[in-house]
Amino acid sequence: KHKIHRLPVVDIDTGNPLYILTHKRILKFIKVCMDNVAKIEAVDKQNQNQNEDHKSSSSKLDISWDSYPLLKKTLKESKIGTYTTSKSKVLQIFEDQKIIEALNLFADFRISALPVIDRQTNRLTDVYSKFDVINLAAERSYHQLDVSIKQALSYRKRHGRGDRPLITCVLESTLSEICEKVVKAEVHRIIVVDSYANARVIGIVSLSDLLCAMVMNKNKL
Ligand code: AMP
Repeated sequence: KHKIHRLPVVDIDTGNPLYILTHKRILKFIKVCMDNVAKIEAVDKQNQNQNEDHKSSSSKLDISWDSYPLLKKTLKESKIGTYTTSKSKVLQIFEDQKIIEALNLFADFRISALPVIDRQTNRLTDVYSKFDVINLAAERSYHQLDVSIKQALSYRKRHGRGDRPLITCVLESTLSEICEKVVKAEVHRIIVVDSYANARVIGIVSLSDLLCAMVMNKNKL
């Protein structure tokens, strides 16, 4: 409703903030609950098979990750996310553009990440997020905003952390597959490409898009 990314959970007595609730944590919580129910069901079914007369109420439940009609839909069917069309645009940045250009896009369009593109091939190579901007502070390089995105992204490598896996999907991916990928990789968004081989960006699905769809469709879940 308010398009915010974080909600502090406040101690009712002291007013002190205790935790920060994020989209990522909510989706992970849903996933863990669903997986647990799926496991209980599997054991239950096994028990039922062993004893035909055994009737358990929880065996009637089917709330596993894959059992939600909405999550079975593909991106093509559900149209969740932002796509480059005649009316909208996925904002992206070339590897050789400057950090200041990314910062301006973050500020002007209130988005939290930009797919990073190789200018020669037009392929997706990385994602530059608002969170990466923190590295500028860590490296005390916030006065060098004319360095390229590629250089900025090499911070992780310079600090011994390997390449981040690029989390992508295609229009044929189901929402269940997408949720699975984003929860596993602990990322905030997934980039939609035309095909895994071409890696041309056509859309972006953020956790806010997924959670918004789940809330809006709660009666159909
Ligand atoms: P987020 O800030 O990631 O929660 O995303 C908020 C909204 O902006 C969602 O509807 C996303 O699909 C959309 N969005 C995120 N990144 C981009 C981008 N680079 N270009 C266009 N739309 C975006």
